[in-house]
This record gives sequence, C-alpha cells and structure tokens, in this order.
Amino acid sequence: MQVGVGREQRAGERRVAATPETVQQLTALGLTLVVESGAGTEAGFADAAFKEAGATVISELPLAALDVLLHVRPLAPETAARLRPGAITVGLASPASELPTVRALAAAGITSFALELLPRISRAQSMDALTSQSLVTGYRAVLEAAVRYPRFFPLYMTAAGTIPPARVLVLGAGVAGLQAIGTAKRLGARVSANDIRAASADEVASMGGTFINLDLDAAAEGTGGYARALGEDRAQRQRSLLAPHVAATDILITTAAIPGRAAPLLVTTDMVAGMRAGSVVVDLAAESGGNVEGVIAGQDIQVPVDGGSVTLVGLQDAASAMPSDASRLFARNVSNFLALMTDGGTVAPDFGDDVVAGTCLTHGGAVRHSATAAALG
Ligand code: NAD
Repeated sequence: MQVGVGREQRAGERRVAATPETVQQLTALGLTLVVESGAGTEAGFADAAFKEAGATVISELPLAALDVLLHVRPLAPETAARLRPGAITVGLASPASELPTVRALAAAGITSFALELLPRISRAQSMDALTSQSLVTGYRAVLEAAVRYPRFFPLYMTAAGTIPPARVLVLGAGVAGLQAIGTAKRLGARVSANDIRAASADEVASMGGTFINLDLDAAAEGTGGYARALGEDRAQRQRSLLAPHVAATDILITTAAIPGRAAPLLVTTDMVAGMRAGSVVVDLAAESGGNVEGVIAGQDIQVPVDGGSVTLVGLQDAASAMPSDASRLFARNVSNFLALMTDGGTVAPDFGDDVVAGTCLTHGGAVRHSATAAALG
C-alpha cells in the first residue's frame, strides 16, 4: 500500500510526519513510502536521506492515489476532498476547532485518525503524540523564559559575590509541566508547582519540584486521568491562594488545560501586577484562551509593574520551534500507530481494538467521535 508524507501546509509549521528512520520501519512492514520533496528539510531531514531509507521522493504527492496520508497539523478541507474514498489519514486533527476539515473528511469517505483522541493507556504510550510534543513544549517553555529573564537561573557563589537561584513556579503539572519542572531544575532554579489532580504531588516531587498544596477540598480528577474543571467558587479560591506564590516567583510557567474546554484562568492581571520587575511569565495555554489574563498567543507583552515590567509570553508553536527532535518523536508515534494496523503490507484498521477505535475520527462517511459529531450537529 502506498503511504504519502507531504510538506506541512500550515504557515510556520516546520515538523514532518515521517523521518528516514520511520520510513525504514514502515518499509519493513511491506508499505511503500512516497515523500514530497522538501517535506523534511526544515526539520533537518533531506530528500536524499529519505531516498536512502527507501522512500520515493516526488515533487507533488499523488493525493488521489494514496492509500494512507501521514500529517502533523490538521489537513485543509481541500486536501481531504482530493483523497480517494476509503483512504486513511493519521496525524493531529484538532477536531474541536477544525470542523470544516472533519466535515470534508467524512464527506470524502476517509478513515481519519486524530492522534489527540488516542486513549492515554499504557499500551498506547509509544503512539502518544500529545505526550511527545508536550515534552518538547515543556522543555522549550523554560528556555524561552530563561533567555528573556535578565538574571541567572542557578545559584552562583563567586569572588564577586553570591547570585541567588531563580524561583520558578509551574502551574499545571501534566506532561509539559513536569518537563518544565525537570528542565528548570537542571538549569539550577528553585522550582515549585501546583496542579489540581491529587496524583500530581508525587509526580512533581519525582521531578525535584516542591508541590504547593492549596487545600482546595474535593479531588478534581475527571476521566482518563485528566482534570475536571473547577466550579467558579473554587477557581476563585485557587486564584487567591496562588496569588502570594505568584508574587514571590521570578519565572511563572502555566500549562493548565481541561480537555475540550477553554484553558482555566489561573492568574489575573492584578496577580501579574504584583510580580517583581524583570519577572517572566510563559503561558503554554495561550492558544486555547490562556491561563493568564491578557495573554496573546504568539506575542510578548510588557506588563508595567513597580520599577519596570513583567514579560508575558503567549507561547505558540513551541514544538514546531524544535522541529528535528519534535519530528523524530512524532514520526515514531505515527509509525507505531500505523504498525498497529498493518499486517502483511496492508493497513486494515481493526475497530475491535480500543486504541484504533478510540482514535478514529471519521470512517465510512460518518464522524465516529461523538463530541465532534455533536458539535457538527
Ligand atoms: P493536560 O494538557 O490536559 O493538562 C495539563 C495539566 O493541567 C494537567 O495535569 C491538569 O491536571 C492541569 N490542570 C487543569 N486545571 C488546572 C487548574 N485549575 N490548576 C492547576 N492545574 C490544572 O494534561 P496532560 O499533560 O495531557 O496529562 C493529562 C493526564 O494524562 C495526566 O494525568 C498524565 O499523567 C496522564 N497521562 C497518561 C499517559 C499514559 O499513557 N498513561 C500518558 C500521558 C499522560
């Protein structure tokens, strides 16, 4: 079967859905790989490396002839419409926000798999693109903060005097938050964190951070290990309990998210105004509404405070900013997912498998993911 890998269409996207390594893996399964020329260039994977790995490199993908199309970002509706009925797509699909594409995939009879829907169970860990890309994002968030912070992260005791370590506060200790904690620790900062899931206290400690217990009463654990949204009373209480911790930190990194909802507001403008001049806030949730009031995705804002300003960063496309390793991990996730459905050189999804069924977005002309089907009406 013919598997295509195209150049990503979204402006600024530098990742690619396959690498020479995964081309070899998929070829060994009996699949034929076709890579669009230049698809991996920005991620550091040249056409020649794809050829050497066994792919055919061509100037434009033969969309109508492909059995499978691999992608990073959601496809454009026009691309979906050009695929043949019964073709399979695997990649990130952002079903909640890309409804026109979902409609086009269903209308074209495509069997599409959205990696955001992959069940977060142990058996599927090697296919979990949300986890692999959050790892990149959490790491990157700390580096973005460090280059904007006018002081050191580590403690320095020198002949010219002592420099105290930076204090880093991470709000939301999921995959990205834990990576941020680990990265900030490695840079020598003093790190604390808060999350509303009970399990996160041990996870924060295992990364070397100090867990801030806000005593919010009642667990906020939802299904699948995710958090549940707090009611407005408890959200308000969380913000007031966080305020002194925010005021005392030099670097604030926010990553809090609730699946299928806008990001929870954790930090108000007044809380930012209470921070010291020179402090940096990096909001990873900026694209989904922001954890920090006033944040704008893709922009740095200088918030005036006593004696200077606080830099508020709306982090966007952080994984794409590290395209080589982000692609390496993403491509392995995609390849492992495809391998799960491939037997004897044929990709044949078994909908009796929870991982396959749970990840399927559209099939046979219908939208199979119930929340997305409901949103489409
Ligand atoms: P996410 O991106 O959905 O959310 C990030 C974090 O924000 C979560 O830890 C969440 O609890 C937290 N959060 C939400 N509201 C908050 C608030 N008001 N204040 C503070 N924090 C808040 O989460 P994620 O990184 O995708 O991880 C979700 C869960 O999935 C975690 O429990 C993680 O350990 C689990 N997981 C499991 C596997 C697996 O294979 N078993 C793989 C990856 C993740």
